[in-house]
Amino acid sequence: MKHGISNIDGLLLFYRKGCKHEDVECRSKAVSRKHLLGEHLELHMFASAIRENKSIASYLANGLVETEQIVRRHNELAKEMLNRGYRHRSDISEEDIRVIKKYSARNGNSGHVNVERSIRDLLARCNECAQRIKVHAPLRSEEK
Ligand SMILES: [Zn+2]
Ligand SMILES: [Zn+2]
Repeated sequence: MKHGISNIDGLLLFYRKGCKHEDVECRSKAVSRKHLLGEHLELHMFASAIRENKSIASYLANGLVETEQIVRRHNELAKEMLNRGYRHRSDISEEDIRVIKKYSARNGNSGHVNVERSIRDLLARCNECAQRIKVHAPLRSEEK
């Protein structure tokens, strides 16, 4: 895997300042099939954990989930799955949306995702993500 520090910094900039497209669109396009499907599945797991009243405290503490963002992020990923021609047949139910909202409101700290760390992990672990990041989330010219 060959990607220099500038690649990582470019992506961090993109996350902080946005890129030439809608942020959301780029962020979803910049992940590999494996990680798109993986993150999607993970969001469903968080939704059912909350519904079934299972503890997600360690995920919250480790910056791995932001409960207020579960539904929005799920829908972004689902849209990207359809864009790529994958199947998506697992909407988050209205009932789950209500439960997640309530849970987030009740827990003043609904968690915070450590985006920089997630990106560094993806770049280090996944060649396809690194390639997609180059294509979909390049440095903006004035920042090169
Ligand atoms: Zn789904
Ligand atoms: Zn990947």
